Amino acid sequence: MPETLKRNIVMMGAPGSGKGTQSAVLSEKLGINAFSMGDILRGVARGTDEEARQVKALIDKGNMVPDQLAIRLMEKELFKPENQNGYILDGFPRELSQAKALDKALNSRKYAKYNMGIDLVLLLQVPDDYVIDRIIGRYACAKCHTLYHEKFKQPHVFGICDVCGGKEFTRRADDTFETVVSRLRLFRRVTAPVIPYYEMKGLLVCVDGTGPIDVVSEKIRKIVGY
Ligand SMILES: [Zn+2]
Repeated sequence: MPETLKRNIVMMGAPGSGKGTQSAVLSEKLGINAFSMGDILRGVARGTDEEARQVKALIDKGNMVPDQLAIRLMEKELFKPENQNGYILDGFPRELSQAKALDKALNSRKYAKYNMGIDLVLLLQVPDDYVIDRIIGRYACAKCHTLYHEKFKQPHVFGICDVCGGKEFTRRADDTFETVVSRLRLFRRVTAPVIPYYEMKGLLVCVDGTGPIDVVSEKIRKIVGY
């Protein structure tokens, strides 16, 4: 691996910015794991111990995970042997208090030899209008789940799935204008304050997240240096 390769990466971006997609691409290219807090919680909830019961209750009620628990679970995940060569955090930390607590955990003396501190924070930037267009127009084949979009990707024959010939399509219930706008507001209020925090540490690089997936991936490739 070249010395400039960044391997401990945080992927940030508003909902609909494509950070999940780009995290997955990067994960495959670098051969390291990408995960979100949601992934970790679902993993823990499958267990049978007391912690699993607590987490399952939180998920079932749709409650936010308290910072302390989030950091403890994240720390546990990151220090698993398979993640010690690097990690991609998809949408975590979500707020400033989590960012600070995460740094403290990763840079604590007991872990110094593992070099787990964050190397790079990528911020995918997309205008609100773009996110709204992208999210509220999307739908999927009910049978094979191929994704379509009213503006950007209709089936070749209207009303018939390109892949399986299915004629029924579904939409996610929360892909409405109101929900998207409220999620964008939440991002601005809760998560955006994390951005200057990483900027001051010299870790932040902004990426234009508009355009086709492979064009954005190429920009990220140059920054990460693989
Ligand atoms: Zn289909």
